[in-house]
Amino acid sequence: MPDISNPKNTRDIISKHNFNIRKDYGQNFLVDGNILQKIIDSAEVTKDDLVIEIGPGIGSMTQYLCEAAGNVLAIEIDKALIPILSETLSSYDNVEIINNDVLKIDLDEMIEERRGERHVKVVANLPYYITTPVIMGLLEKTHNIESITVMIQKEVADRMQVGPGTKDYGALSLAVQYYSNPTVVANVPPTCFIPRPKVGSAVIRLDIYREPPVTVKDPALMFALIRAAFNQRRKTLTNALTNAQLRPALTKEALGNILTDMGLPDTIRGEALTLEQYAQLTDIISGKQ
Ligand code: SAM
Repeated sequence: MPDISNPKNTRDIISKHNFNIRKDYGQNFLVDGNILQKIIDSAEVTKDDLVIEIGPGIGSMTQYLCEAAGNVLAIEIDKALIPILSETLSSYDNVEIINNDVLKIDLDEMIEERRGERHVKVVANLPYYITTPVIMGLLEKTHNIESITVMIQKEVADRMQVGPGTKDYGALSLAVQYYSNPTVVANVPPTCFIPRPKVGSAVIRLDIYREPPVTVKDPALMFALIRAAFNQRRKTLTNALTNAQLRPALTKEALGNILTDMGLPDTIRGEALTLEQYAQLTDIISGKQ
């Protein structure tokens, strides 16, 4: 079976089918077999796995997944790619292609219908225009996956794995780190894609926690505090939270006292707090309801 990801094969498939590459769908096809193998190895895909691929494109990564996984469920929005995938993947009987928008389907239900005893992993070269909603949707709403190994913009991968004290630290870092343990496993230059993206890329693996690393009584309130803190990241935390008019409403003075009780200066900015400190702050605030 010829390697779809070979640059010549990719170009031949595109021209044979008169396929128009759609920028609005974030179509950048991977044309580097070494990177593909590295992604499969980093995800530790085995024959005991059901792998979910988001955006199979012309099937370059899907082919590697079919070789390594028990089964592959691939979800592709672009209907022009469906006949191409039927042809490029015709020698594999362990792949199912669904023509749909990943943001509009109930992935949890689809997985439950298919998984049997298998482990479920997400492996993908994500369309960059929806990286954050796809990953947050997987983390918040999909309860049956073990890990997510995805190619994303390098800048977003960096934001996902940093802690306080860096400019990249933000609401995304805290949300990702509440649900998973992130590790960047490769940096990938634009030359590995057709067409070349304008930004550098990275492969990140997120190992999903069975239990979050911090306990907090009201996670929704914690994320509301985090969003409010980083929406006004140059302001002190007390100002940012007072301006955000959260419920329960607390005065600037009351918030300052809570921070002092936590052993923090009342002039601290939200970008200096760890996940543990946000959890502690949330429990104190919700205790005052
Ligand atoms: N996996 C292929 C590869 O590595 O060469 C293609 C990756 S390309 C970066 C992203 C793919 O996601 C494209 O095939 C695109 O059509 C598809 N896509 C974009 N938005 C999508 C959505 N909302 N739901 C499902 N697939 C989507």
